[in-house]
Amino acid sequence: MNNLKMDLSSHGSPVTIIENIASQLECSTLDRKVALYLDEEDELKYLQERFHIPKVKDLPPTNPALVKENDNCIYFAGNSLGLQPKKIKMYLDEELDKWAKMGVHGHFNGKRPWALGDECIVELMANIVGAHKDEIALMNGLTVNLHLLMLSFFKPTSDRYKIFLEAKAFPSDHYAIESQLQCHGLDTEKCMLMIEPRKGEETLRTEDILAVIEKEGDSIAVILFSGVQYYTGQLFDITKITKAGQAKGCFVGFDLAHAVGNVELHLHDWGIDFACWCSYKYLNSGAGGLAGAYIHRKHFQTVKPALIGWWGHEFQSRFLMENKLQLSPGINGFRLSNPPILLVCSLHASLEIFNQTTMKLLRKKSVLLTGYLEYLIKQHFSEDKNDPGKPFVKIITPSNIGERGCQLTLTFSIPIKPLFKELEKRGVACDMREPNALRVAPVPLYNSFCDVHTFIEILGSAMQLHL
Ligand SMILES: *Cc1c(COP(=O)(O)O)cnc(C)c1O
Repeated sequence: MNNLKMDLSSHGSPVTIIENIASQLECSTLDRKVALYLDEEDELKYLQERFHIPKVKDLPPTNPALVKENDNCIYFAGNSLGLQPKKIKMYLDEELDKWAKMGVHGHFNGKRPWALGDECIVELMANIVGAHKDEIALMNGLTVNLHLLMLSFFKPTSDRYKIFLEAKAFPSDHYAIESQLQCHGLDTEKCMLMIEPRKGEETLRTEDILAVIEKEGDSIAVILFSGVQYYTGQLFDITKITKAGQAKGCFVGFDLAHAVGNVELHLHDWGIDFACWCSYKYLNSGAGGLAGAYIHRKHFQTVKPALIGWWGHEFQSRFLMENKLQLSPGINGFRLSNPPILLVCSLHASLEIFNQTTMKLLRKKSVLLTGYLEYLIKQHFSEDKNDPGKPFVKIITPSNIGERGCQLTLTFSIPIKPLFKELEKRGVACDMREPNALRVAPVPLYNSFCDVHTFIEILGSAMQLHL
């Protein structure tokens, strides 16, 4: 068994690791023993206990006849809504008690003085996205932050007036950009420069993105891409896009909703101009949680907020109420209102868990976990040219590890709606998108290799029903 441990800590590809384990255990790579072994050796396994994992019996679509009542569900929907850290309730209680006991004095007393609530946890967030503390603010919702940032970074001129984005950006991002252009009285047809995958392809090629920047860069004011594409799961080459855009004089920003807490980020070192993200997906802060925004230090003296509230005023003199603005530099000047302490509590509980490990270690497990899922899908459900009647699964997420996070997007040769219903009846939580995509996201914080193995078993029985 000692040899095996060596294999796991080495930098072998997921397939190599899986094959080595199976050969040492003298079983098939498809055997559940492999999953059990991987779980046993998982150094991050202890983190799972910090979360509430829903039971199958409590999920509304479950059919009790098809599940064991005390089993945990297979939760592969952390890309949509992360699970609840157990400590949230305690942290909420702390602040509710404080409010009950001391009322207004809570603003400047206790473990999380409300007036500084966001600032108490900002460093925990900075570690996750690879930025300096003063480059980040925790405020508002994601779409609000995107608007606030665009108001300052998108300053169209007669030569430079376009915004470059993905053709299938998340609706909120698409609408935000469209409405920003309309605020400036610009023609959205002419000013929204959107890139689509090549015909017959599902994801974007970096070379094609760079070619657009090269060709159109002089007329592009802002490049706004997602870090990880919500639908395909593609992780974009953030550094290459940033470098190419900035070389052409564009501002380059990223919506990191599906990247934060999922892949390693180094926003400062990569020199990204601005970014924003939500905290209820991989960051587990609960629906509508406190969002994040980032502006690189290089812009601290030059990029100012278009809209200002009292929280953008420097802390030292904020409460003198003299109405002579002393604006905090950078992103902190963009804060408008006093922070919502109850949202700070839930985010706090989650960020603490992330800070008990590192994104590097989480990512290492994630690569193996998703690699294992990919391997089993390919082994069980690939198209069989000799058996054209057999239903099959295609993975549209890039197979290259450097081009994806934990999510895989699957498409099916059979109608997906009835299949999805069968999965749900059996206690699988994942996400279906019309017309025929299933998005599954094994999350390294709380998902196990056995979860992946069970998912494959359930998927197999659901597909059998729809031959
Ligand atoms: C989840 C998500 C959103 C949601 O926006 P909210 O303002 O948090 O409701 C927006 N954009 C992207 C890319 C997302 O993934």
